[in-house]
Amino acid sequence: MKPAAFSYLRPSSLDAAREALLRHGPEARILAGGQSLMPMMALRVAQPTLLVDIGRIAELRGLTCDERVLRAGALTRHAELLSSPLVYASVPLLSLALPHVAHAAIRNRGTLGGSLALADPAAELPACALALDAVMHITGSLGVRAVPAAEFFQGLYSTAVSDGEILTAVEFPVSSAGEQVFFDEISRRRGDYAMAGLAAVARADHTLRLSFLGCGDRPMRAPHAEALAADARRSMRVPDRARLKAALAADLDPPSDLQASADTRLHLAAVLVERALQSWSARSNAPHQDIV
Ligand SMILES: Cc1cc2nc3c(=O)[nH]c(=O)nc-3n(C[C@H](O)[C@H](O)[C@H](O)COP(=O)(O)OP(=O)(O)OC[C@H]3O[C@@H](n4cnc5c(N)ncnc54)[C@H](O)[C@@H]3O)c2cc1C
Repeated sequence: MKPAAFSYLRPSSLDAAREALLRHGPEARILAGGQSLMPMMALRVAQPTLLVDIGRIAELRGLTCDERVLRAGALTRHAELLSSPLVYASVPLLSLALPHVAHAAIRNRGTLGGSLALADPAAELPACALALDAVMHITGSLGVRAVPAAEFFQGLYSTAVSDGEILTAVEFPVSSAGEQVFFDEISRRRGDYAMAGLAAVARADHTLRLSFLGCGDRPMRAPHAEALAADARRSMRVPDRARLKAALAADLDPPSDLQASADTRLHLAAVLVERALQSWSARSNAPHQDIV
């Protein structure tokens, strides 16, 4: 199938892009890497009458880091993040997760902003943003607002970005001393969206953040499982599987579909937590610890 007819604009400034989006209302859509939007249009799941291509807006590019945050422009491509020594050194969780995002060809075009704005519940980067407590910068007619990841993802393919607004940049807190991170996912084939995945951060003060993908209508934190896992990490043991699964059942809301039942996804979530704890414990016991 081919997309329905649409008009195309390629503004070179953020203001011009915002004006076009405001003028055309909900019928207009932002085009970034096009790796999700173009297939959706080809299948006619999306039928925007205007595409506003933000690819030439210099303000949306750039990767900078100070001692506090890594700031990435919304147009930063997955491949750029994956190959960046700055990202590896400052926010290693992203470097662990990015190889799981689709395939190289898609990572060459797909953007950070596009992935977060799409908010696919099975996507890797939204789960990382939640695990890291990233802050999204959204530009609209009233200026820029900063929205923490926990408020940004609002439901299935739904975010805090309103019509006429553009996600312009994302700030990720720089990894702190003694912090351990973990990313893993379980999919039927490499490159496929995962049935379940886990982005996790454990800080030196024993606080722990578990952020799951594929286990709800958005990336999901798991407070009950976090408490269990934090206890287990402190005492260097693996938690009881049944208790862990019960905690995860209270925290998550996994879908049942052709790929996996909700119960299978809960099982996979428990396996991923166990893998995280085992990986952290192995690294704590290693004579030379690596940051990832
Ligand atoms: C075969 C295939 C496999 C894939 N597998 C995975 C996978 O395993 N994991 C994964 O995470 N992703 C996967 N993807 C999706 C890929 O990562 C996309 O690149 C990403 O989801 C969207 O980024 P994009 O830049 O291409 O956005 P686009 O497709 O251009 O846009 C996506 C949506 O976001 C909106 N948007 C884009 N940028 C902005 C912005 N700055 N502000 C506000 N709204 C914006 C658009 O209007 C659109 O609604 C896959 C895609 C394909 C085709």
